[in-house]
Formats: sequence, C-alpha cells, structure tokens
Amino acid sequence: MSFILDSVFRPLNSPRFVSFSRKIRENLRPKKIFLLTSAIRDIYFFMSSVWRTAAENKEKKMNRESLIILCPQCGAKNRIPQDRWGDQAVCGKCRAPLPFSSPFPDHPVEVSDRTFQNEVLNFSGPVLLEFFAPWCGHCQRLSPVLDQLASEFAGRAKVAKLNIDENSLIPSQYAVRGVPTMLFFKGGRPMNRLVGEQPKGEIERQLNSIL
Ligand SMILES: [Zn+2]
Repeated sequence: MSFILDSVFRPLNSPRFVSFSRKIRENLRPKKIFLLTSAIRDIYFFMSSVWRTAAENKEKKMNRESLIILCPQCGAKNRIPQDRWGDQAVCGKCRAPLPFSSPFPDHPVEVSDRTFQNEVLNFSGPVLLEFFAPWCGHCQRLSPVLDQLASEFAGRAKVAKLNIDENSLIPSQYAVRGVPTMLFFKGGRPMNRLVGEQPKGEIERQLNSIL
C-alpha cells in the first residue's frame, strides 16, 4: 500500500515538478488568468457564431434548392430536395408517382432579363411576376405577402421577382412605369396587371383568376 502511495506522490515532490508548478503560479497572475479566460471565451463565441451562420446557410440553401410538387392523386404538397430531382419520387401521403413536368417552387424566384424567357414565358403554369426595386418601401412591405402567396400557391402558380435596378430590358418591354408592378402570366402571355402596393386578398383574387 505504501509502495503505491509512494509511487504516486513521489513525482509530485520531485524538485523538477516543484519548480515547474512554482513557475506556473508565478506566471499566471490574476490579470493574466483574466485575459486568458476572456480570450478563450471570445474565441468560443466567435466559433459558435461561425458554426451557427454555417448551419443557417445550409438550411437556407436546402429551402432554395427544393421544389414543391403537387400530387395529382390526393393534392398533397411534396417537397423534393435538389439531389433527388432525377429520381422517380412518390407522394408522401398516398404513394402515387409524382409528375416532374411542372415543378413549382414554394418561395419567390428572382428572375433577370436573361432568365425571364425560361422562368416566366416557358413555364407551364401561371406566373405572378413582381417588378421591384430594393429601395422601394412599398415593395419591402409587399415582400412577406409574396412569400406567403408563393408558399400557399406552390403546386398551382409560381411567384417571381425582377429587380428593375439590375434589369431594364423586360420592364421596358412590358411598359412598367413604377414599382411595385405585378404582372400575371399564363402560357407565356400577360393576362392582368396590378400597380402599387395591393392587399393580399386582391393579389390572391388575380392569381385565382388565371389558375
Ligand atoms: Zn398523393
């Protein structure tokens, strides 16, 4: 027994360990300990904020890169992540195979002069296209309404946005004189137009009229 205790405690009493521990005590004055712990705390907070943003970005990316497909059998909304677009998906509710001919996003899609043809004119379903500018207060207030409508009409209509500060061709082609202006397309043709900030019910009514 004494042998075991001795083998444990003898190294702690060795001259080298004693001078080593004295050095640590002398060097780590309270101020230094304070600086050290606050540095560790700062690094911890910095790293956790980096991790948090990375996780948020991943989630945003996932939302952006998934499509909503409406089940032709039971009408359930199915979210298909981008890495599964090539697979034959089945409805999560009734197991019916899902068609991939009309993918509808559940969030507003930003289009440009360059992508307008493909995103709006060639799209198989109805499209609500909002012309907006980042500095426009009415557009900013309309933005959450369009988010809601995109989600509510997923599988039936697409909501798209075009920034008039970055794109001038399409706004002039459709004689857009102010923002926000909303155009309702069906089969590539403009059917209706709403100018200015409008209540959600009115936009909904226009969307329903072109379904
Ligand atoms: Zn179904």
